[in-house]
Amino acid sequence: MIIIGIVAFVLFFYHSFSTSLEQEKKAQSKNFIESALGIIQHFHQLELSEKLTTAEAQQLAMHTLESATYGDDGYFWINDSNGKILIQPYMPNLVGLNMTNWADSTGKYIFQEFDREARKGGGWVSYTWPKLNTSEEFPKISYVAHYPAWDWLIGTGLYLDDMKSDIFWAVLSTSGVLLLGFLIFIFTIIVIINYFVHQLSELSIRDSLTNLYTKRFLKEISPALLNHNKLTDHHLTAIFIDLDHFKSINDLHGHDNGDKVLKKVAKIMRENAKQRHYCMRYGGEEFVLIGFFENEMSAVDMAETIRHQVSEVCFINDNNEFSVTLSAGVALHNNLIDDSFANTVKRADMKLYEAKTAGRNRVVV
Ligand code: GH3
Ligand code: MG
Ligand code: MG
Repeated sequence: MIIIGIVAFVLFFYHSFSTSLEQEKKAQSKNFIESALGIIQHFHQLELSEKLTTAEAQQLAMHTLESATYGDDGYFWINDSNGKILIQPYMPNLVGLNMTNWADSTGKYIFQEFDREARKGGGWVSYTWPKLNTSEEFPKISYVAHYPAWDWLIGTGLYLDDMKSDIFWAVLSTSGVLLLGFLIFIFTIIVIINYFVHQLSELSIRDSLTNLYTKRFLKEISPALLNHNKLTDHHLTAIFIDLDHFKSINDLHGHDNGDKVLKKVAKIMRENAKQRHYCMRYGGEEFVLIGFFENEMSAVDMAETIRHQVSEVCFINDNNEFSVTLSAGVALHNNLIDDSFANTVKRADMKLYEAKTAGRNRVVV
């Protein structure tokens, strides 16, 4: 879709931009002719005020226009009304030739066309004309005008192939720049959208207090975990953790201190977690560690380490020190009894319940 859009854009841009550039170029050479007529008029005025003779005024006008070239190969030519070439800066050797019977490569009598358009008040004539150092003729378009007082025809032309290639390169470079800008714009938008989507999905799977994953993440990651479980000889395991008598901690030390405890427990879990281990806050003061363990013993060791480290932490509320303990249940995923990983987590929760009823501050497998 994007590629089709870009191609359509370039084609549309090429068409409209090249049409307007072509018109612009043509309008520009018409303007040049109007300026040239102004120069001729200036010398004509000098003739009328008798500061110059007719011959001097015409000579100076021709000389000025001969040197008034523009662009790469823009020039003015002048013919008298009999067809004689008066100036031709591009091919000076043609000066003095009579063009009346001059037919271009398509058989068109150029001078007659010039004469007709110029006397109409100015206009465009298409014809073919040689280029420097070649005998071959190329399509050209000239704007021609008539200066009645001296009966001169004055014109300036554009080679169509030069104009087309100028326009082509102008359009190509401009559309290239626009396209690059457009692609950078699209790329930036994609990066920004990706960033926000990532942030949003992180927000929905991260707990704001502990920065651990949420229960929702467990659902998302379960299929991948089960797939990996088939490929590895390690065992997918759930360790379900619940703080002991946490309600009393809140009651005795305040909710803020309760929060500090939750954060500390999360930190200890994270520090102990290995590669392919995921720590999540399952609910209020309930945590689950999911991961691959070599065997049941190594999972129990992990749970015991966390339990031990948490119990060793000394929290301070004003001048009162307090500590917390936790209970944990461990369950290894078993294809024979678990139809889903949620069921393994449920079994870990049941083991946790056993730990609670057995007196808390312990790990049951
Ligand atoms: P048990 O040993 O049987 O687990 O007892 P308990 O008190 O830990 O269990 P109970 O389910 O009765 O209480 C859990 C408490 O956890 C109640 C609730 O106020 C507290 N709690 C839940 N979420 C938060 C939290 O985000 N911050 C704080 N400070 N307390 C929380
Ligand atoms: Mg609980
Ligand atoms: Mg509890």
